Amino acid sequence: MALDTFVYTEAELLRADWLSIAGHELRTPLAVLKLQTQYLHRHLATQGLYDDVAILAKMEAQIQKLERLNGDLLNVSKIQAGRLEYVEGRVDLNQLLRESAGVMHQIHPTHTIVVRGAAPTGVLGDAGRLGQVFSNLLSNAIKYSPHADTVEVEIGSSAEAITISVRDHGIGIPQEQRERIFECFYRAIDASRQGFPGLGIGLYLVAEIIKQHGGTIRVESAMGQGSTFHVVLPLTR
Ligand code: ADP
Repeated sequence: MALDTFVYTEAELLRADWLSIAGHELRTPLAVLKLQTQYLHRHLATQGLYDDVAILAKMEAQIQKLERLNGDLLNVSKIQAGRLEYVEGRVDLNQLLRESAGVMHQIHPTHTIVVRGAAPTGVLGDAGRLGQVFSNLLSNAIKYSPHADTVEVEIGSSAEAITISVRDHGIGIPQEQRERIFECFYRAIDASRQGFPGLGIGLYLVAEIIKQHGGTIRVESAMGQGSTFHVVLPLTR
């Protein structure tokens, strides 16, 4: 048992090192690519070449995806090395959730995101990291419900905590895999088999960030009907 734990930790550390080196190496070429594409975008726009601008906009969207993916991989390496940084302050969840929903709707106009309810007060936490939590949950809700057109977010509260529920009308998650989806690199069989893209790190990051905030996350799901992720964030820690 002790040996197993040792081998596992060693492997995790090696992977974290590898991810960190690869992630940092990818950062510079991605940044250069982004800057030059932006320059070209402006240049073509001033010449009125709007067909070319539209092609460049698609390239920019793909570069953004790569940057997000690389950022996620770097975050995984930081978590596994115990170095994910948090900047604490008072966070207005109402504003943060509505901002995240707005950005997600811009990227995925196929889905309307309805936000209901309000948190009576802010929580102590890292706004950037909590923003990552909500964009991951929302982008999953959209990705795994290709035949639906709405995602619902419900904000509730009690004397001790604020609850945020993100509900979709998508493929659902098999009962026996619901615990495992929060593991690093784990993907439910249906997601891979049906060809949904992904690496299986989003929910690992989400769970880690929520844990750092003293909160919890759980999922309810019905196959073919949808899933609801419930996040509970304590008001005091
Ligand atoms: P990714 O989506 O990149 O695979 P995540 O860590 O975000 O990685 O999610 C892990 C797995 O959990 C996914 O592969 C998918 O099987 C399942 N999953 C997450 N969110 C949903 C959802 N809203 N509906 C159905 N399955 C989901």
